[in-house]
Amino acid sequence: DDTAPILRINNIEVIYNHVVLVLKGVSLTVPRGGIVAILGANGAGKTTTLKAVSNLLKAERGEVTKGNIQFEGNEIQELSPSDLVKRGCIQVMEGRHCFGHLTIEENLMTGAYTRSDGRARIQDDLEMVYTYFPRLKERRKSLAGYTSGGEQQMCAIGRALMSRPSTILLDEPSMGLAPQLVEEIFEIVKSLNSNEGVSFLLAEQNTNIALKYATYGYILESGRIVLDGRADELRENEDVKEFYLGVG
Ligand code: ATP
Repeated sequence: DDTAPILRINNIEVIYNHVVLVLKGVSLTVPRGGIVAILGANGAGKTTTLKAVSNLLKAERGEVTKGNIQFEGNEIQELSPSDLVKRGCIQVMEGRHCFGHLTIEENLMTGAYTRSDGRARIQDDLEMVYTYFPRLKERRKSLAGYTSGGEQQMCAIGRALMSRPSTILLDEPSMGLAPQLVEEIFEIVKSLNSNEGVSFLLAEQNTNIALKYATYGYILESGRIVLDGRADELRENEDVKEFYLGVG
């Protein structure tokens, strides 16, 4: 069913270390081909929400104790992060996480590790990544550790693309980057969305930029969704303007 949401989070609770309740009943949906933003202050639970989907919570002693998550109509809580990548859903973590001692191109190639469809296809996808990120092509022989923050963010997204995802969970892509570079990265997100059909669920503290590019947004406060709506509606909302857009 092409009209069904690609991702559906149903009323989840997340607890860390068996005691700390961080998500208190979060529900959201990502339509196929959508760009959906989770907005909110530091510590609101944005990263936790993404990690609940990608199943990276377990590594941090976090667990979903209530509710469920469906990707492509199937419950996914029991899948490992790499099984989920094989099904088409991958997280790009905050802070970029490139391998500093590998070249940009080697980093990109590590993104293809879950694939078994042969070198030629993987090579084609490398070229595809380079068409979206010409800077990465220029820097392909450079050690990632010696490239700029913006290039590392591009590398992290490019590496995720090498798994041929239908859906990318993108954590705080603007973090630590100059405004012009943030704009450049969001433009690429937009073209990946419209040309390659990649759906995005992104976490952002930068409400301004996120609502410029997203189709829909959810505002998270202390583990609860307090407001959601189409991006254009949220931009006009008085509370959003006052508390999140800084133009109150
Ligand atoms: P940020 O912008 O800092 O990533 P966020 O909105 O993504 O913020 P989370 O990182 O999801 O927020 O954190 C939500 C809450 O969960 C915070 O209070 C944080 O201290 C707590 N938390 C996060 N990771 C853990 C952990 N591994 N163990 C215990 N508590 C955690």
